[in-house]
Amino acid sequence: MKRIAILGGGISGLTAAYELEKRRRAGEALDWHLYEASNRLGGILETTRISTPEGEYVLEGGPDGWVSEKPWLRELAIELGLENDILYSKDETRKTWVLVNGQLQAIPDGMRMMVPTDLGALEGSPLFSESAKQAYAREVLISEELKRDAPDADESVASFCTRHFGEDVTRTLAAPLLSGVFGGDVAKLSVRSVMPQFVAMERDYGSLIVALQEKAALRGHRKTQPIFTSLKRGMGSLVDALIAKLPPERLHLQHRAYSLFRVDDRGGSEWTIDMTVGKKRRAEGPFAELIVATSLDAVRELLAPVEAVDMTGLSLGGFLSLTPSEASSAILAAFAWPAELASQFTIPKGFGFLVPPASNASPSEPLALDPGPSLLACTFVDQKFPFRAPSGARVMRAFFGGASADALSRSSDEQVAAAALQQLRAILGPMPDPAHTTVRRWPRSLPQYEVGHLDRMAQLDSFVRRIPGLHLLGNAYRGVGMPDLAREARRIAESLSV
Ligand SMILES: Cc1cc2nc3c(=O)[nH]c(=O)nc-3n(C[C@H](O)[C@H](O)[C@H](O)COP(=O)(O)OP(=O)(O)OC[C@H]3O[C@@H](n4cnc5c(N)ncnc54)[C@H](O)[C@@H]3O)c2cc1C
Repeated sequence: MKRIAILGGGISGLTAAYELEKRRRAGEALDWHLYEASNRLGGILETTRISTPEGEYVLEGGPDGWVSEKPWLRELAIELGLENDILYSKDETRKTWVLVNGQLQAIPDGMRMMVPTDLGALEGSPLFSESAKQAYAREVLISEELKRDAPDADESVASFCTRHFGEDVTRTLAAPLLSGVFGGDVAKLSVRSVMPQFVAMERDYGSLIVALQEKAALRGHRKTQPIFTSLKRGMGSLVDALIAKLPPERLHLQHRAYSLFRVDDRGGSEWTIDMTVGKKRRAEGPFAELIVATSLDAVRELLAPVEAVDMTGLSLGGFLSLTPSEASSAILAAFAWPAELASQFTIPKGFGFLVPPASNASPSEPLALDPGPSLLACTFVDQKFPFRAPSGARVMRAFFGGASADALSRSSDEQVAAAALQQLRAILGPMPDPAHTTVRRWPRSLPQYEVGHLDRMAQLDSFVRRIPGLHLLGNAYRGVGMPDLAREARRIAESLSV
């Protein structure tokens, strides 16, 4: 019987448990247990459903969906019996706005992140300066040069974007788009980690605009898939469906691992885990395999002593220094207005808006939100997905990230909600107080993939392979999005098959 411990019950740990359980039920000699520090499963996935006489509100505290082009979470949802719950973003009204000079300006249609397919669509857009428009036009002309000079090594998103489209586009569009997803700084983020598709386009075509145009021509009139996928009852329903497939006696809540021991024995090795369970301490084990699927900070704490023992023996130095050193925090305030309140104000059509990071704002574009913590983004939830609010009602999610989220970390939920509402009113105009509010905090939840991240991950892999029975899962390594995490979790669980 192979004994396996999983630490952490977010989407990574739960998916690994699900895959192991499938194999156990099929007769494999696997004995797995999952230990979660908190009193709930799901980690960053958390949905609040509010039932009212008019219908249901679905307020997401973490992710609200996933990018459709990565199939792995959809496959998992279908396997879990959620096929009829799958829904898609309302792409027919898709539009994203950017705050420039205190005004919301629409990102022109047909853009894939900061790359346009139709240069004509940029003409009337106040989002771009004349020099930005000229830089876009020039990118097509220097296609051969870009292809020839494509760097062999990784670089920052800012450097990549500036080589193609100049500094204006990097500041006004790439910076808010990337910090909206990764909460990070474009001057540090690794382009090969966070935009591998654009790096491949540069290698194959030179110009990214030409690459997108050629791909669109090849696709012809075939319909593109909707950009985002989600679930009718929210991401929490994926967690519920996973839990429903797992024996409760194998799921241990309020078990916080605080130290690990590895004992080498007769050519094999075994892990023992010290845990706090409520106020008590207790050791669990031995386990032949250990899947650490906690947040990065917990991984560092747990593995530092293991590293000292193993790495001194192997003279390999600190492998944990290869993991991202910075992680961005997020605070989310979700607001719901029933139809009679929602009818008192209007918002622009589309999925939401982004606010360029203050450090990237040019002096000529003072931020409307200064001083104090500034919103990073806002999602117009009921315009992005169906089934999020009763008919005529409105749901919005406001995000604080990075330094702003850190600055608000000691504020009460009421203060966070008040700060978010004040900024929404400054940007969108007067609106009544919402009927329902949730505030969620995810400190240091988005590890930053800085330049050279992929090389460091390859090194980390080779170190970890030398420590018998150790497996690392989570958003610090090979993707922050849920589909990547689900794929990795299944891959590792499959590798433990007996
Ligand atoms: C605000 C926000 C919005 C996002 N939006 C999207 C989106 O729209 N689409 C998308 O695909 N991705 C999105 N992401 C990214 C995605 O949600 C995360 O990368 C993912 O949920 C991380 O899952 P995980 O299981 O690896 O880690 P977590 O969810 O962090 O789970 C780790 C678990 O480990 C537990 N733990 C910690 N320490 C210990 C310990 N010592 N012992 C035992 N257990 C421990 C924690 O309590 C937690 O439950 C978003 C992230 C954030 C923060």
